[in-house]
Amino acid sequence: MLRRIGRPELGSIALTAIVTVYLLAITNMSFWRHAALYFDHSRLSLLSFGTALALATFAVLTMVSVKYVMKPVLIFLIVASASAAYFVDYFGVIIDKDMIGNAAVTTQAEASHLLTGSLMLHLIIYAVIPSLFVIWVKVRHRRFFAKAGINLAIVVPSLLVSGGLIYSDFASVAYVIREHKDLMKRFNPTGPVSAAVRYAASTYKERNIVVQPLGTDARQGARVAAAGKPVVVVVVAGETARAMNFSLNGYQRETNPELKSLDVINYTDTTSCGTATAVSLPCMFSVYPRSEYTDWKARSTENLVNVLTRAGVSVSWWDNNTGSKGIADLINFASMTGQKDSPLCNNGECLDEIFLGELDKKLSATKANSVIVLHQLGSHGPSYYLRYPEKFRKFKPDCRTPELMKCSVEEITNAYDNTILYTDYVLASVARLLEKHQNDVSGAMIYMSDHGESLGENGIYLHGAPYAIAPREQTQVPFVTWFSKPYQAAMGVDTRCLAKETDQPKSHDNLFHTVLGMMDVETKVYDRTLDAFANCTRQGPAGAPNGAAFQAADTAKDLPAAIVPANALPGANAL
Ligand SMILES: [Zn+2]
Repeated sequence: MLRRIGRPELGSIALTAIVTVYLLAITNMSFWRHAALYFDHSRLSLLSFGTALALATFAVLTMVSVKYVMKPVLIFLIVASASAAYFVDYFGVIIDKDMIGNAAVTTQAEASHLLTGSLMLHLIIYAVIPSLFVIWVKVRHRRFFAKAGINLAIVVPSLLVSGGLIYSDFASVAYVIREHKDLMKRFNPTGPVSAAVRYAASTYKERNIVVQPLGTDARQGARVAAAGKPVVVVVVAGETARAMNFSLNGYQRETNPELKSLDVINYTDTTSCGTATAVSLPCMFSVYPRSEYTDWKARSTENLVNVLTRAGVSVSWWDNNTGSKGIADLINFASMTGQKDSPLCNNGECLDEIFLGELDKKLSATKANSVIVLHQLGSHGPSYYLRYPEKFRKFKPDCRTPELMKCSVEEITNAYDNTILYTDYVLASVARLLEKHQNDVSGAMIYMSDHGESLGENGIYLHGAPYAIAPREQTQVPFVTWFSKPYQAAMGVDTRCLAKETDQPKSHDNLFHTVLGMMDVETKVYDRTLDAFANCTRQGPAGAPNGAAFQAADTAKDLPAAIVPANALPGANAL
């Protein structure tokens, strides 16, 4: 006869101890590895710090070891820690407030690339099975007063010893934590849990934001008024492209064959504002430089697209990514990803070529001075292989799964480089479309990526590292610009002069002022020193001496097509 397997019985303190050991030992690989690295000046410091942390964790878990509360809390902590550990241990990412923000605003299509078989397996082994164990065991709880007494007898000495250990080695611990802000963010479960709490708190605080107007004095200047035809600037907001994989920046592989053949201006040293879309994108379009930028400021102040609109520029935001992060709330916004029937789209995601047909149509119909923002899907990982069509699968073998750890670094790099090759094609095509329509519009393109990407350097993948410790791979971004001949003539841009300055450091701080300058928008919030092209741009209208005193003009809107001069240039029909 089979004996029924009875549920094992454990005291509440014993179960607390088991879960504490589990959390510390199994879900904190990355934390301990980094702690060992950062405390390499003293093994004793590491030991004392680790012991203090273990005792504190044990004390806190003991405090919640109350009937009906204990099991849900322990299970929550196990699941949170195991989930975070997957990303921290395998991808080298850090789950901070911004990362929680990224996760919260991510689309279903994006998220589905991360929900892989390996993640499921990891969660079954490290979250589900231990949780089932917690559910299964029968916990012996003492009666209230006895329990309170025992718990106090554990909590108080644990906290005292923990505090004492930290206090006795305070200089060393404080130094390490201050110098390595990532360390405690890696600690499970407090790292991800406190990040989530802080994200929720800031979201709650932001729900009543009143957006302050910006650039209320903005208007377009005389150059645009004298341009004779609509001035159109296409701003390509890139995605996850890192500068070092652009052959324009010296990468040994030819990843920019098309841009190379155009007269582009390529800045070789450009830094991003953040390491993730949710930070970088609002920062790029914000008036604040990185040093002053906060999420709160960005949300409570109007941005570049609003200032342009105030000046009478027609602004459109076309999105092939996860949205404008609130930037384009007040303007003409169109999502490309909804074009379900297009052969360029699959499962809610589209190849960036989706912009080109629309842009062609738009340029032939444009009557107003316009800024068109193209928010690319670019090189967004981990499914790099879905970002380019077969025709651009030049570097092989390419990693063809979102589970990067199943691919070699070479395969990952090949797939990533194909995405850059494809972006090269998309950007060059935008320039060629502006050239094709140069009888209709004076066009220019400006491209910056929002942040870079780690491809396994030092065990780090993807992006979103805290800025202070972010590797260059994540913060050095491409910055490429192209001006049509009519644009150069009308706006007085000297590309030969610009070509001499391309090694000057540039950053996302420049985008706001540079685009205002490109559209000849006059406003108090425009800072000429941050306009990347100002040194090489004539200030007055054509014919006026450089730097001529500016005469205000209110005429710069919606030029009728009839006054467009027929100064066709060779190559106008190049496409
Ligand atoms: Zn991004």
